[in-house]
Amino acid sequence: MVKPKLFLDFDGVIVDTITAIVDLYNEDFLKYSGFKKVLPSEINSWSFEECKCASSEIFDFYFNTPRFFNHLKFMENAESLLWLLMYDFDVYVVSHGHTPNLNLKSEWIYNHISKDIKFIGVDLDKHKDKSCVDMTDGIFIDDCANNLKTSNATYKFVFGEEYPWNKEYGYIRCISWIDLYKELIYLNSMVYQKE
Ligand SMILES: [Mg+2]
Repeated sequence: MVKPKLFLDFDGVIVDTITAIVDLYNEDFLKYSGFKKVLPSEINSWSFEECKCASSEIFDFYFNTPRFFNHLKFMENAESLLWLLMYDFDVYVVSHGHTPNLNLKSEWIYNHISKDIKFIGVDLDKHKDKSCVDMTDGIFIDDCANNLKTSNATYKFVFGEEYPWNKEYGYIRCISWIDLYKELIYLNSMVYQKE
């Protein structure tokens, strides 16, 4: 039996990127004048503007360092539910980044999840969204509404809490991995298994 294709974003879906970046900032800028410890829950901007002591170049740099990946943790329940989903779905991780980030991400997925997950790295220098990835007949999960909007996936779900980059309506929001798991199992039984 051919399994349905499930395309998952990485940052903000599988892993808690905001917490890892804020951890690095709080460590590195502690002794700078005007420093105030930032909590992950205080971040509401795509470019970490709440972290006042660091420039946007610092955050771009963090994303390309092994140290960022050493700080990364799974979103709550993501690890175990991802393993369960792999029984029913052909899982791809589709993620945006610069070359060092994409290389490190691919290694992280191989080492922390499974070599059976296919990684599709989308070069940020060449593509502003993920529409270059053919997701025909598949399901796409992303926390960025614009990536969903421009994708040709058949089913699209927005993941996580509400942020300025995913406020747009029209997509079912899965607030947690338990929520996402339920939606995907339902979709699989109602649509894909009936084809
Ligand atoms: Mg994301």
